[in-house]
Amino acid sequence: MAKKQFKAESKRLLEMMINSIYTHREIFLRELISNASDAIDKIYYKVLADNQLVFDKENYFIKITADKANRTLTIADTGIGMTKEELENNLGVIAQSGSLAFKKENEMQDGHNIIGQFGVGFYSAFMVADVLTVTTKAFGSDEAYKWESKGADGYTIEPCEKDSVGTTIIMTIKDNTEDDQYDEYLEEYRLKAIIKKYSDFIRYPIKMDVKGQRPKEGADDELEEYQEEQTVNSMVPIWRKNKSELTDADYENFYNEKRYGYDKPITHVHIKADGAAVYNAILFIPENTPFDYYTKEYEKGLELYSNGVLIMNKCADLLPDYFSFVKGMVDSEDLSLNISREMLQHDRQLSLIAKNIKNKIKSQLQSLLKDEREKYEQFYKSFGRQLKYGVYSEYGSNKDVLQDLLMFYSSTEKKLVTLDEYVSRMPEDQKFIYYAAGESVERIEKLPQTEMVADKGYEILYFTDDIDEFAIKMIMTYKEKEFKSVSSGDLGIEPDAKDNETADEENENKELFEAMKGILADKVKNVKASKRLKTHPVCLSTEGELTIEMEKILKAMPN
Ligand code: ADP
Ligand code: MG
Repeated sequence: MAKKQFKAESKRLLEMMINSIYTHREIFLRELISNASDAIDKIYYKVLADNQLVFDKENYFIKITADKANRTLTIADTGIGMTKEELENNLGVIAQSGSLAFKKENEMQDGHNIIGQFGVGFYSAFMVADVLTVTTKAFGSDEAYKWESKGADGYTIEPCEKDSVGTTIIMTIKDNTEDDQYDEYLEEYRLKAIIKKYSDFIRYPIKMDVKGQRPKEGADDELEEYQEEQTVNSMVPIWRKNKSELTDADYENFYNEKRYGYDKPITHVHIKADGAAVYNAILFIPENTPFDYYTKEYEKGLELYSNGVLIMNKCADLLPDYFSFVKGMVDSEDLSLNISREMLQHDRQLSLIAKNIKNKIKSQLQSLLKDEREKYEQFYKSFGRQLKYGVYSEYGSNKDVLQDLLMFYSSTEKKLVTLDEYVSRMPEDQKFIYYAAGESVERIEKLPQTEMVADKGYEILYFTDDIDEFAIKMIMTYKEKEFKSVSSGDLGIEPDAKDNETADEENENKELFEAMKGILADKVKNVKASKRLKTHPVCLSTEGELTIEMEKILKAMPN
């Protein structure tokens, strides 16, 4: 049987594709700039391969020009250009990527920095333009060609004049409609912002003619208009620089520029990983709790770059919930992107990076705790609660990561201490890690239940956060020591001489206790003589898993 070819209504297909794969129209500029950058990368590669030629960096750039009067936006590059055949193949065939082919042809192992791979980005320009006019002259060729298309109707190719090697794309920007505004893509400030957002770290200069006003020379009170060519992008991303070249101030500037927060970071980690997962990252721990941090509105995530091009603003998969306060970015060359390059396929690479990052954050926090206690305490004040939630959630499966990062107020030290510090101070006869829960340090100090333990000379941890006791229940034991509430029935303290007295008291006051039990029948289970009281006449104690404080919290929770 003869095989038939699929037919596609290419007009519809193009429209469907353009309008369904991208969520943000502004992305067209990222795509065209990425193509221009690829084209320069390719000429760079060719020049390097040809020993006769020198690559003079000065001559390689991308130029963006907006012309409001004619409604055109022009993206010109000094890259490798396209021959007539390449125009046909690359811009005439949807999903044909000349860049992917180039990588294969030249057996470029790591693909260098070439971005293109899907062969669709170019057409995204039709989201904002009615007409695209491409003039191009290929490296090593004397002929130049013009490709033109109104999108759906196909395209034309004809010879044209062009002085220099490279490609120029002239977009005729759509008119505004009732529902859609396109004028913004002719505005200098808007274009600059889009370039900064997505293409700041393209390695070649992206230039624009910028207009401004300045005081006229010789006449202070008069202004004059001027126009100058500016490079809009920063080119070298800070994360590719050597750590030794960078100061704390550089990192702080980056934090501010990126608007990760309006405070200062307490600390940062700069990661250059080239093990199983190859990536660069800069992570920050903010000083203050963002105002919406403990609400549903707060969105965790790191910025994700692929080869210096921004892919996602907040990639949530890179951070566990208990480290959701971390800000920063990750750049990796080997991510599998989806076709719009706005999202990732869930891949092994990403989970590897995430795991790696989690460990780095943990060790950064541990060294902060060890070497810069004050800063750690500031951090803990802002985000300690999140760590405790982390211990509690997922049935305590994260306790190994987190338990050494926890701190509680200590009855003897009168400050925050870690569990490790507590245990290392425990006298030999002390069996348990004691804690007392209450609203505040002041309140807990007054609790009659603490007296006996304190009297024995044992340290008590004060739990003032609702979550504390729940988190501890998940940890269960720390360094083989169990936790014990000072209000639990059996404190595990060796009986002393007083013990016989309580038995006597028990007998002497039998009638009184019975009477009290009768009156408090629906409130208490038992009334008995206690050996833990010193200056207080009476106290409450519990049996079983739940303590009084936990019961209070559970009762207060909505069902
Ligand atoms: P991709 O970049 O994923 O390959 P595009 O649709 O963005 O897909 O571009 C298709 C192809 O057109 C590119 O692979 C490249 O070969 C060619 N191309 C696009 N823009 C340029 C340019 N400015 N200079 C040279 N070639 C280009
Ligand atoms: Mg592309």
